Amino acid sequence: MRKECDLIIIGAGPAGMTAAIYASRAGLKTVMLEEGAPGGKLTKTFEIDNYPGAAKANGFELANLMFQQSTSFGAVYEYGSVVSINSGDLKIVTCEDGSEYAAKAVIVASGTKERLLNIPGEEDNIGRGVSYCAVCDGAFFRDKTVAVIGGGNSALEEALYLTQFAAKVYVIIRRDVFRADQLVVDEINANPKIEVITKHIPIAIIDDGSKVKSLQLRNVSDESEQELAVDGIFPYIGADPITGFLKDLDVCDEHGYMMVDANQETSVKGIYGAGDVCAKGLRQVVTATSDGAVAAQAVVKAIK
Ligand code: NAP
Repeated sequence: MRKECDLIIIGAGPAGMTAAIYASRAGLKTVMLEEGAPGGKLTKTFEIDNYPGAAKANGFELANLMFQQSTSFGAVYEYGSVVSINSGDLKIVTCEDGSEYAAKAVIVASGTKERLLNIPGEEDNIGRGVSYCAVCDGAFFRDKTVAVIGGGNSALEEALYLTQFAAKVYVIIRRDVFRADQLVVDEINANPKIEVITKHIPIAIIDDGSKVKSLQLRNVSDESEQELAVDGIFPYIGADPITGFLKDLDVCDEHGYMMVDANQETSVKGIYGAGDVCAKGLRQVVTATSDGAVAAQAVVKAIK
């Protein structure tokens, strides 16, 4: 049976949950559809330094507070893996299991998905030493040696987090400069447990039959190769937007990010985007929550 409401929010990360707070507080019957636990990337982030009013916030706890707030005004959270949105006046959102939701407006806040290295040995060793979540799995590597791949904010922040457990943390970057904020770069350079390997790319993950034992690296300058003994590998090489279900609507740019106007609305009336899934210059919790508020407020105005 099709469920009807005023607003469907796809994704319950900071953008989606903020949209839910604003919309339900304004009286809209709001459903949040999420295929994982509420909180999005926040739940995989150890500490957030730069969310105003919540310095050194634990990601999981902040996510939980946002979730409680988002449902306190009546928004409903439901499991749903969305496969399509119909773009008529009434928006029909269809999930993988065939369930359908209908609403006057949809806010897409589905975020991004971590990129894979796509090298031999990666997929086979997920859960056997390869992990994309330091916060979830870091404690398994107490007194061990791990490698973090990537030089963006995510990689460096998680490398610092891993130093709480691991005896040694390699950070492997393909250029000789980082892509992260200087503050984090300074902390990386000052940490005695961290060794940065520049101008190298991972080309294979080698295991002993049951778990990771080393990482094969190639020097991008002279093509020479080396095998680095490690127990754990944490790739943090960026992410891609989760917008496959929008493919028929022509609302995304060439990289798959949603294109929105100042009200967070796409070129399809009644379909909005919010958070990391949008084409934008700064992907932070604070910009995601801001997008969610703007989008929800625009929906409230349009409907009321
Ligand atoms: P990112 O900023 O795109 O960084 C990706 C890193 O991975 C870069 O160092 C990149 O190298 C490297 N890389 C990409 N493909 C690779 C490959 N195949 N092999 C080896 N290395 C590869 O991604 P992110 O760190 O996930 O961050 C995404 C967004 O979220 C950014 O806008 C970031 O600022 C934001 N963010 C912010 C915070 C915060 O402010 N607290 C925390 C996390 C994320 P190159 O530099 O050579 O391209």
